[in-house]
This record gives sequence, structure tokens and C-alpha cells, in this order.
Amino acid sequence: MGQAIDGKAVAAALRGRVGAAAGDFAARAGRRLGLDVVLVGDDAASQVYVRNKARACEEAGMRGEVHRLPATTSQAEVIALVRALGARDDVDGILVQLPLPKHVDEAAVLDAVDPAKDVDGFHPLNGGALLAGAPSLVPCTPMGCMRLLDHAGVALEGARAVVIGRSNIVGKPMALLLLQRSATVTIAHSRTRDLARLCAEADVLVAAVGRPRLVRGDWVKPGAAVIDVGINRDAEGKLVGDVAFDEAIARAAWVTPVPGGVGPMTIACLLENTLRAAWRRRGLPPGELVL
Ligand code: NAD
Repeated sequence: MGQAIDGKAVAAALRGRVGAAAGDFAARAGRRLGLDVVLVGDDAASQVYVRNKARACEEAGMRGEVHRLPATTSQAEVIALVRALGARDDVDGILVQLPLPKHVDEAAVLDAVDPAKDVDGFHPLNGGALLAGAPSLVPCTPMGCMRLLDHAGVALEGARAVVIGRSNIVGKPMALLLLQRSATVTIAHSRTRDLARLCAEADVLVAAVGRPRLVRGDWVKPGAAVIDVGINRDAEGKLVGDVAFDEAIARAAWVTPVPGGVGPMTIACLLENTLRAAWRRRGLPPGELVL
């Protein structure tokens, strides 16, 4: 029987460390760290996400501000706001909440985010840096997954890792972060053949798909670490991951639960990225970036 990785506790500890560093920043800089979130339209889930992000900022002693624009806002207006935030010295992090309304080109808006303030790590320059093995600002969800693996003490060097999902937000950056730590990484996706057999060879299995309980117990290698990124509702409306947790934990050494696993880490890493972005802009040496 394996153990659940308590993402809530790991995230709370990280938020505490970021909060202490944010207090130190405010004392030195004479102002609070600032994260500015751009929300276009009235998508219900996005409203909840941005509220939680802004609240987490305030709890960590940072300024968290949401800029709400109506769904009819033009692409040029969204880009103008993102550029204006880029020019403000009191703005350390900029986050554009996705999805954007259909008439707004997501890539064009993300391109307009100052890469030095791109706390989601979605700007092509930050994606390229990650590909080159010199990451600066890394997407928050895969960053949180890496933190959970490290917390559990999972050995990554030479390990066989399978990442299910190839999105730019989770799957691809997750695979690159594992590769950077010298795991042997396979990316699986909707067209992958014989997924169950592939997964059964994985020492580290990351599921980022969006299909309730896709990963069954017999897909899990005994002693593996299983990271469940998925957030789904099952037939009864209950929140479940991409992994059948009860089955997986019977074979794995470690499994992240849903809720209470990866989810809380995403916001904690967003706060950490805001701090990192601010430090970097002020030219602090990487040695000081250890939290
Ligand atoms: P996405 O829809 O962009 O990508 C899903 C990926 O899964 C695709 O690459 C697709 O090829 C693959 N896929 C689909 N069906 C498959 C199948 N049957 N077998 C194998 N692969 C299959 O989704 P995303 O944005 O990467 O998010 C994935 C999941 O993670 C979602 O449930 C999302 O809600 C969740 N998520 C959670 C957090 C968090 O903070 N915990 C953050 C982001 C996303």
C-alpha cells in the first residue's frame, strides 16, 4: 500500500515561505509584490480561479489585482492593457486567464506579455528557455508536480517517466522538466497505442488528460510515483482525477489525491513565480532564489 502525497500541506508550507520572502521584498523595495490578473468575459470557472489567485496573493502579503474586461473587448484593447501592465514598475507578475473569448487570438495576447513578468510561463520566450534547458519562469502546474515529486523524495535520474497529455500548459512542460532532471521520458496522448502497457513500465507516471479515472490500478507499476493532474466531475458530480486513486495506491509507492494534490500547488507556484520574477527584474543573483 502506497502513500498519498499531501499537496495541501506542501502548498501551505511553500506559501508560507513565499509570504516570508514577500515581506522581506516589501521591506527592501518599499512596496508590496504585485500580481495583476487579466480576465476577459464571464466564464464561471475562470471567475472562481481568478478570485482564488487574488486572495492567495493577499494572504501572502502581496498585491493581487484582477482587471475585469467585458466579453466584447477587442483583441487590441486586451493587448493594450497587457502592455500597459508590462510598463508599470509596481507590476511584478502578469497573468492572462484562459480561455479568452473566441474573437481574441490567445497567442497574440500571450506574446504581448512581458516575458520577465510572465508568471504562467506561457510566453514563447519562456517556452523556448525551458526547451533549451535554461528555464526562467516555468508553468505553475508542472512546476508544482516537480515539487511534489521532490517532496516525496522520488529519484528521477534514469527513471522511466510517462506523461499522459501533450498540452502546452501541462503535458509538454512537464515532460521537459522531467527530462531536465535526467528521467527517460515518453509523452503519451490520445493517439498513443497500448497506453496501459506503456504506463505499466513507468517509475513516474503523470496523468494530465481530463478523463475521470482513466488510469486503472493495473496500469501502475508496483512502487511507482503517480501524479494526477486531472480535475474532472464523475457521474455523481464528485471531483475526481484522471487516476483511479483507490486502485493506484494499492500498487504505487506514492499517489497524489484529487482534490488536495496538484491543485493547491498550482497557486502556490504562481506566488513563487511572482516572487522570482520580481527578484530577477531587480537583478538578484540566482543563489538568492532558493526558497
Ligand atoms: P488538454 O485538453 O489541453 O490536453 C489533454 C491531453 O490529453 C491532450 O494532449 C490529449 O492528447 C490527451 N488525451 C485525451 N484523451 C486521451 C486518452 N484517452 N488517452 C491518452 N491521452 C489522451 O488539457 P490540459 O489543459 O493539459 O489539462 C489536463 C487535465 O488537467 C484537465 O483535467 C485539467 O482540468 C487539469 N488541470 C489541472 C490543473 C491543476 O491545477 N491541478 C491545471 C491545469 C489543468
